Amino acid sequence: MDMSILDGRDGLRKIITQVAEVAGYLWEKGWAERNGGNITVNVTEWVDEQMRGMKALGEPKAIGAVLPHLKGCWFYCKGTQKRMRDLARDPMGNGSIIRMTEDCAHYEIVADGPVAPTSELPSHLSVHDWLLAKGSPYRASLHTHPIELVALTHAQKWMEKDVATRMLWSMIPETKAFCPRGLGMVPYMLPSSVALAEATIRTLAEDYDVVMWEKHGVFAVDTDIMSAFDQVDVLNKAAQIYIAARNMGFEPEGMTDAQLRELSDVFGLPK
Ligand SMILES: [Zn+2]
Repeated sequence: MDMSILDGRDGLRKIITQVAEVAGYLWEKGWAERNGGNITVNVTEWVDEQMRGMKALGEPKAIGAVLPHLKGCWFYCKGTQKRMRDLARDPMGNGSIIRMTEDCAHYEIVADGPVAPTSELPSHLSVHDWLLAKGSPYRASLHTHPIELVALTHAQKWMEKDVATRMLWSMIPETKAFCPRGLGMVPYMLPSSVALAEATIRTLAEDYDVVMWEKHGVFAVDTDIMSAFDQVDVLNKAAQIYIAARNMGFEPEGMTDAQLRELSDVFGLPK
C-alpha cells in the first residue's frame, strides 16, 4: 500500500473522506457527468509541522492573481479532467493537496501525487480569499450541475432576483430552514472566465451561500463540503416538487408569505 499524506492524520482524512462521499452523491444524482463539477476545501486547519516541511512535487504554478488572504493556506482540489465518480472511490488519486507559496500568487502540489488541480482553481481560490478576508468560517466550495435547478434558468422569469428563491422556499418549509439565504442569480457568462468568477463573488456578497450560473450550474459555499452539498440538495428537491406539481397539471400554490415569515421568526433565519 502506497503512503498517503492522510496516513496518521485522522482530521485531514475525515475531511477528504467527506469530499469523496459528496463526490459519490453528485454522481448518483446525475449532477456530475464526465468531469463536470469542482470541489475545493481549505484544509489549513489540519496542517501540521511535518506537512509544512514537505517538499513540493514540482515547480510552483502561477494562479494568475495575487490572493493575500490565502497566505499560508492549504487546499484539497479536485484534479483537472478528473471525474467525480472516480474521486468518490479514490480522492487522492483524482485530486491533490496544494499549498500557497509565500508570494500568494503561486501554488505547489504537495500530495499524494502530481495531480494538477482543476482549471477552475483561480476562481475557487478567489472565492476562498474573499471568504477569509471577511472573516467567514466557510471552508468549502462546490460547483455542480443540478438538473432541475439548471432547467429553471432557461426561462428569464426565474433569473430575476429572488423569484426562484421565493418559489423554492415555498415548496416545503425545510427549504428555507436549510438554505436560509436563498439562491443568487448570475447571468450567463463563459465558463472559467474572470468575469464569471467576479460575478460569483459579487452575488455571494449580496448574502447568498448558493449562486446559480444561468444555463450551467450552481456554486455553493459553506463550512464544509457536506453542508455546501446539503444546501444545493434542498434547493434542487424543491425544484423537483415544483416540477412534479406542474406535471400533475397545475401551478403549485406554495406556502404563503405569512407562513414563510413565521419560519424566519420562529427559527431566527437571516431572511
Ligand atoms: Zn460546470
